[in-house]
Amino acid sequence: VGPRRAADLLNAGLITIGDLLYRFPTRYEDRGQFQTVLELREGESAAIAGTILHSHIRRTRRPQFKIFELLVEDSTGAVRATWFNQAFLSEILKPRQRVILFGKVETRSNGGGLQFVNPHYELLNSEIDESVAAQETIHAGRIVPVYERSGKITTKMYRRFVYEALGRLPETLEDSLPPELQHRLQMPAVRQALEQVHFPEKGTSIELLNRFRTPAQQRIIFEECFCFQLGLLTNRMELNLDRKEGAMQVNDRIRQSALKVLPFRLTSGQKHALQEIAHDLQRLQAMNRLLQGDVGSGKTIVALLSAVIAIENGFQVAFMAPTELLAVQHAKNISRLLANSRFTTGLLTGSMQAKNRKRIVAQISKKEIDLVVGTQALLESPIKFQRLGLVVIDEQHRFGVAQRAKLREKGLNPHVLVMTATPIPRTLALTAYGDLDVSVIKDLPPGRKPVKTVVKPSSKHDEIYRFVGKELAAGRQAYVVYPLVEESSKMDLKAATEMANHLATKVFSKYRVTLIHGRLNQAVKDEAMNTFVRGECDVLVSTTVIEVGVDVPNATIMVIEHAERFGLAQLHQLRGRVGRGEEQAYCILLYRSPLGEVAAERLRCLTETADGFELAERDLKLRGPGDFFGTRQSGVPNLRVADLIRDYEIMEQARIESTAWFRTVNLDHILVKNIQKAWPERFGLVKIG
Ligand code: ADP
Ligand code: MG
Repeated sequence: VGPRRAADLLNAGLITIGDLLYRFPTRYEDRGQFQTVLELREGESAAIAGTILHSHIRRTRRPQFKIFELLVEDSTGAVRATWFNQAFLSEILKPRQRVILFGKVETRSNGGGLQFVNPHYELLNSEIDESVAAQETIHAGRIVPVYERSGKITTKMYRRFVYEALGRLPETLEDSLPPELQHRLQMPAVRQALEQVHFPEKGTSIELLNRFRTPAQQRIIFEECFCFQLGLLTNRMELNLDRKEGAMQVNDRIRQSALKVLPFRLTSGQKHALQEIAHDLQRLQAMNRLLQGDVGSGKTIVALLSAVIAIENGFQVAFMAPTELLAVQHAKNISRLLANSRFTTGLLTGSMQAKNRKRIVAQISKKEIDLVVGTQALLESPIKFQRLGLVVIDEQHRFGVAQRAKLREKGLNPHVLVMTATPIPRTLALTAYGDLDVSVIKDLPPGRKPVKTVVKPSSKHDEIYRFVGKELAAGRQAYVVYPLVEESSKMDLKAATEMANHLATKVFSKYRVTLIHGRLNQAVKDEAMNTFVRGECDVLVSTTVIEVGVDVPNATIMVIEHAERFGLAQLHQLRGRVGRGEEQAYCILLYRSPLGEVAAERLRCLTETADGFELAERDLKLRGPGDFFGTRQSGVPNLRVADLIRDYEIMEQARIESTAWFRTVNLDHILVKNIQKAWPERFGLVKIG
């Protein structure tokens, strides 16, 4: 291509032929059979090729509403096509141009014959110089791929580039799939598969194509999944280095020691998770395990019992929380639980006085402290553990990756246990955290009452406030959450502040009301949170998501304003802040009308289930995987042709096959080397270590 097109391609992220060929069409159209105008039937989809006779914009009685109309003629007659509110088409579709129309044929409302309504169109002679014959083979007269327009690259240009690229490919291509595997799974070779993906041969099922389930499509998807899984395996190999300190032991003495710490019976989910962790600790390799469990499922005690194993084996343990507040809360709980043991604990946070800090740091280095709780500050440089054996990272799976890297930089290779209450749907766990082992606690400790959840329009405010008032009068505490679309939006902040004032002075004037929002500095926020934790504040109005993990059993009410603005996972997290004590707890979701369909569905999900995993699955369906995690560094791989939801089963198969194959080869196998080289760029993931 010329320099201008090259720039367009670059802007669209298309640099190599591979980029071009490994982007699938979004759908396929069967233009194998062009109908003639004479053959058009009402209610059927059809494709015709013809010449534009006439075009015009028709105004309607509604001033904003315009209709663009075309009259297109072929050798058998003429037919009308109309588009609603797309007047700009008059700049594109002009008389005397040759055009393809594809879409549904309907009867005109005035009874005057047939017409296409909002059909797909394609000009046969614009954009690029092509002979008519070439155009008829690429863009028509066959099953035609339709690509998503990206930047200045239209679907038609894309199609032509792909066509040409395919034509210039060598007869055989280097294949990323091992030949024996390809043979056993009866997959087409890569060259043929690519051709069939983009230009399917006559007779291919359109239905299969549009579900991305033809053998050619499946092969290319499988290839990507296989490479992805292979990359995970090699990354993980490097990660799971043997610890030079050797394996830990779990014997009866240690079991007794752990039992002494335990204040209650573990749930079966907790037991199972602990067994998995204990198993890891007894191996030479460093553990990299994610412990998933809904809010309140009791992850902390599992981590603490794991810590006991490590300490009994002569190691130190670092327990990291995302914020000071949570660190303090953990430290308190842990020192209470360990009060009757001979284990020593300490707390280290950023805001501590220098003197105290120094003392703790010294104690850590002398191994006078077995278990230290803290924030990220724990991994900062002046702190030297004498014998760090286990790191627990709470509610911070996003940082887990970076922190492990940091530890390794320091030459440390402890076991790492990352805990999260964000349920990761089954469909994503395989890939998003593919380099971690995962334990899941599915059950809750006995005796929990489910939070009663209701959805109400905000016009019912008074009724809700009366109800909240009753709970406050009974000595309970309440959260009121007011979302900011953006933490920086002045208007929203003003609305939230006004509401807090209104609640403080009018509605709940008898009670203590505090507002926290994201623009306050951390110390002020922590202090406000602390007064709530200590019961010195009755109503906490918050614009930010209240910190995950905060435990205030006396808080029984969660009111969420503008619930329609929150995501499902967030709402579930918020709801998890209440229902932590003996009393019945309530979650009231207020929405402003009109409520959109998806938002309504989200809120309905919350009233139907309290199961975080179930909600996560539903959320994923409502939103799609990209949105689910929000950002790229969150661990969702950057897949080109595979779709984590649609192709879940292929991914699973790829995992099984890649694991089996990987066992049979050496690390210097060409396919392994290739994938290691291509990994960061291909999948957009940070490589650990
Ligand atoms: P999360 O998984 O959300 O971090 P926590 O570890 O904070 O949950 O536990 C929530 C509460 O449940 C704590 O008060 C804890 O003491 C209690 N708990 C945990 N496990 C059990 C159990 N097996 N039986 C009774 N209470 C439990
Ligand atoms: Mg927790």
